[in-house]
Amino acid sequence: MKFKRIFTVFVLFSVLLSVFACTGAPDVTETEPETDEKTEPVTTEAETETETETETETETETEPAETEPEIVYAGLDSGIVRDGTPKKYFCLCFDDATQQDLKIIEMCKKYDYYDVTFFISTGLYGVDWSKSVGVPHVRFTKKEVESGIYDGFDLAVHTLNHLPLNTYQNNVKKVANELEKDAKNIYKLTGKYPVVMAWPGGDPNVTRELMKIAYENTSIRLGRGTTSTHKFDLPTEFLWLEPTAEISESTLFSDFQKFVDAECNEDMLFFCWGHGYELDIYNSYDRLERFIKTVTEAEGIELVTVSEFYQLFKDEIPAVILDE
Ligand SMILES: [Zn+2]
Repeated sequence: MKFKRIFTVFVLFSVLLSVFACTGAPDVTETEPETDEKTEPVTTEAETETETETETETETETEPAETEPEIVYAGLDSGIVRDGTPKKYFCLCFDDATQQDLKIIEMCKKYDYYDVTFFISTGLYGVDWSKSVGVPHVRFTKKEVESGIYDGFDLAVHTLNHLPLNTYQNNVKKVANELEKDAKNIYKLTGKYPVVMAWPGGDPNVTRELMKIAYENTSIRLGRGTTSTHKFDLPTEFLWLEPTAEISESTLFSDFQKFVDAECNEDMLFFCWGHGYELDIYNSYDRLERFIKTVTEAEGIELVTVSEFYQLFKDEIPAVILDE
């Protein structure tokens, strides 16, 4: 009995040993290649890092001299010197870059008036909104814009896709993209980096948070709203600039006359805005031409683009007053 028990213990022990040996063996074989694999990528990573470092070094060595042209911002060439004498400034601008702009441009050229700003959405080239607007509302194609329609005029940002920016629920990346991509496309066209914009969708869609996002994440420093003030005060914040008048308003000419007649004891601004397609809505092409004639013939008025106006006053007027 005793011998039988010893024999059983011995058999059990041998079985256990062999089981352990079987399960243990594959473990070792599997671990080894794993270790190898782990080591390999480390070496590769190290190599890649060294390669990248070398590449970057080479880039840094060659770049500065040739490939990085200095960015030229829009509006720096007004030729106006702020010498302390108060002046009356006048801005005219049109939104959306629809085909009616061709006639506006023709009128402006007739009066040698190039200090006009056109706000354009470069993500909507060729888009036709005629049905929803009720009159022809066809944006220029990319080819048409590239052919030089706006040459000599000020081109500025109206966002890439013209959606009210509050649509993006303060998503910084999306809002900044709408502004900065449009700005970059315009820069490619004109060689001048835009600094001003017209908020799309009207005033109710503009918030202080959006102004802050634009200021902190893009090159845009002035944003025009849509509510007429019928006043000639300079804005207190550039990203919230309310215009004086709209081109289709009945008071347009009388407002302008008041501006001409006003005593100029401090800098003043008449900011006029509109859309080309309004000229079809109100059949007011002749009226606009009369207005352009009146403005260009008026004495003592400094005609400036919106970009130029920003550049002239950027050191005095904050883009946005940030809460402390
Ligand atoms: Zn618009």
